[in-house]
Amino acid sequence: MKIIYPGSFDPVTKGHMDIIKRISEKFDEVIVACLVNSEKQTMFSLEERVSILNEEIENYKITNVEVKAFEGLLVDFAASVGCTMIARGLRAISDYEYEWQIAHINSSLNNDLETIFLVANSKYSYISSSIVKEIIRYDGDISNFVSENVELRIKKKLKIIQ
Ligand code: ADP
Repeated sequence: MKIIYPGSFDPVTKGHMDIIKRISEKFDEVIVACLVNSEKQTMFSLEERVSILNEEIENYKITNVEVKAFEGLLVDFAASVGCTMIARGLRAISDYEYEWQIAHINSSLNNDLETIFLVANSKYSYISSSIVKEIIRYDGDISNFVSENVELRIKKKLKIIQ
């Protein structure tokens, strides 16, 4: 069975990678769906987010994961790849309200679509892409939150290093 893990991944954190690794062990195929975000201003372009995700997946040596970009409704993307399972991570109760709404919206648009939630690993449950971006702007240490590769990518992007 295959499952979609959708998100912005701007950029991918150790928390996201923990979820990807866990679902890759339980499902035959994982599609990481990287969202073309028209409303949110992202640090990385879609192409950059997809390539960083691919680098991470290679470094983690996970082989049954494919990264795809998507725009529009998740239900339409899911239909286009023939998948009816969505995975989301739940960090704290604050994630729940939004996730609950989206899961209901998606299942009302397509009754076959099922959303499953993975409880975030306690080591990473306080990490978000936006916190990482905020810390690095003030030159803080982000090495516990993202991989070395992602840290380098961010520093290059912000011209902290060449
Ligand atoms: P979105 O913009 O759709 O929220 P994100 O890239 O922020 O996209 O997150 C994608 C998914 O990963 C969401 O389900 C989110 O709750 C989950 N997630 C984000 N950070 C973590 C983390 N540290 N641990 C576990 N799950 C996470």
